[in-house]
Amino acid sequence: MNSGNRELAEAWLAYFRDLGISSFYLNRAYSLPITAGAASAVALNAATASPSPRSVPLPSRPSTSEHPPAPVLPVIKSVSLFEAAERVAGDTLERIRADIGDCKRCKLCQKRTNIVFGAGSSSAELVFVGEGPGHDEDIQGLPFVGRAGKLLTQMIEAMGLRREDVYICNVVKCRPPENRTPEPDEVETCSPFLFRQLDVIHPKVIVCLGAVAFQSLLGAKQSISRLRGQWLEFRGMPLLATYHPAYLLRNPSAKGDVWEDLKKVMAHLGLKPPARR
Ligand code: URA
Repeated sequence: MNSGNRELAEAWLAYFRDLGISSFYLNRAYSLPITAGAASAVALNAATASPSPRSVPLPSRPSTSEHPPAPVLPVIKSVSLFEAAERVAGDTLERIRADIGDCKRCKLCQKRTNIVFGAGSSSAELVFVGEGPGHDEDIQGLPFVGRAGKLLTQMIEAMGLRREDVYICNVVKCRPPENRTPEPDEVETCSPFLFRQLDVIHPKVIVCLGAVAFQSLLGAKQSISRLRGQWLEFRGMPLLATYHPAYLLRNPSAKGDVWEDLKKVMAHLGLKPPARR
């Protein structure tokens, strides 16, 4: 292997170590564990009939007398590396934040002010996943603190909860320039850290705010209007998608649909809306 390729391979291995999945990656040619959550993602992927956007090509190992050619196994295209990745034993939110470090893994690092890791209770029963930080979040290093965030806070309070009771995070942790939609390579690089956050918190419900969130978690392609309000599953955790609060700011008439979705979440959590004052 020449030094350029070695450096590249070492960088990938360091990245997989950060994610706690190096053993999975190295063993992938021989075994492909499918978790319960991955199985539901497989069902969704099968419905969309296109390969997962997060699949990573496996470099083929040259065969030598010491290493005979690996058996040719059927490739299950709809299970991505990260959907199938095993949990990181003893993982914590602090460790995930430390693994992210002063991240330079994708181009979003170039213009960000702060990494927006996530905020709220590490034992939350309810996690909201948004798309990515905007201007205010980038400045403060906290998720959903701008106009859309104020509306999200009202939604949480309407459910009889406080922001501190839930956990709020995003698919990407750095602000996309001009608030553009995160690009596939940015989602692919950042979402494994989100998966670890969700595995650690293991909420009773994940609410995806907008299409980017549920498409990234489930590898699905459907539109938000098609899937919103339906119970789905991510790694054994019930997941429900609804419209993003920024969409509600532009389309207030959709607030009724979102309230219907949140009422399903409340019923699942055994919550009653606070009495009107
Ligand atoms: N929009 C998002 O998706 N996330 C935030 O944190 C803020 C706005």
